[in-house]
Amino acid sequence: MNEFNIIDTFFKPKAAQSESDIASGIRLGVGDDCALISKSSDLDLAVSVDTLIEGVHFPESSPPDLIAHRALAVAISDLAAMGAEPRYFTLALTLPHADTDWLAAFSGGLHEAATQLNCAIIGGDTTRGQNVSLSIHVMGDVAKDQALLRSGAKVGDKIYVTGPLGDGAAALAYLQKRLTLQDRDLGDYLSRRFYKPQPQVRAGLALRGVASAAIDISDGLLADLGHICAASDVAARIETKRLPLTQPLLAQVALSHLQQWALSGGDDYQLCFTVAKKRQSKLMQKLAEAEFSAHLIGEIIPPGDPLVIVDGAEDLNLKRSGYQHFA
Ligand SMILES: [Mg+2]
Repeated sequence: MNEFNIIDTFFKPKAAQSESDIASGIRLGVGDDCALISKSSDLDLAVSVDTLIEGVHFPESSPPDLIAHRALAVAISDLAAMGAEPRYFTLALTLPHADTDWLAAFSGGLHEAATQLNCAIIGGDTTRGQNVSLSIHVMGDVAKDQALLRSGAKVGDKIYVTGPLGDGAAALAYLQKRLTLQDRDLGDYLSRRFYKPQPQVRAGLALRGVASAAIDISDGLLADLGHICAASDVAARIETKRLPLTQPLLAQVALSHLQQWALSGGDDYQLCFTVAKKRQSKLMQKLAEAEFSAHLIGEIIPPGDPLVIVDGAEDLNLKRSGYQHFA
């Protein structure tokens, strides 16, 4: 079973949202980047949890301050995907032993990230275990009925991403020494992209009332756009040549390799979103205000199999679309 089968089989409620769910304030349950809980008459609370495990999500002996930064940024990316504004988080931390130097560096990085990303720690839990593991539970505000969902894409909507794809996979390859670089600045850039990804909070906020659907790219474009398609009961056609790539990487990595990373690699934490024809001018206006950037990569088409058709990818090996735990 992969992680998505596990969620569907064991954790998704069998019935549609019940009246008691609605009475208890659940506005949106399992199946999107965040759940939504009614907070007040005009505000919902978006909530999401993310776990990072040593050796799976970050290399062993990674600098603790950077692990902390990455964990919070990655969790907040799910708030960005909903168009929510980060507010609070709790932390569950598992450590093999209490190393005070490690903890001092970790907490320093965590507080720095919390300040930069405007999200306050309000509680947590600390336990002993074999490997370093951290779960961050984030909460953010979103105006009622304004949240960006995966389920709103319609045939004819244009598909965009907020920034270069493939950096996340390139960064992991670099940190695992599978990619060697002559260009030191590029190496520093990739390390930053890995440990300090920038959750697209501003883009998410600006896209409320503009995007018909949105998701953050954590598992790879094909997998994550596939989630939009499944939730919206549509399919997507994207053009490989339109994928935004980091130009200096092209001097180091073959184009087809970078395109493959852009499609199937994960950890980019850009947003992928769809916009209806009638909202295009509103999008252009937002882009002109320079709140964020967007790159057109394709269009939503009627439902079919596969969920995502990739034009111009004939020579790419796309069998493995996105990272899956338990695959
Ligand atoms: Mg997500």
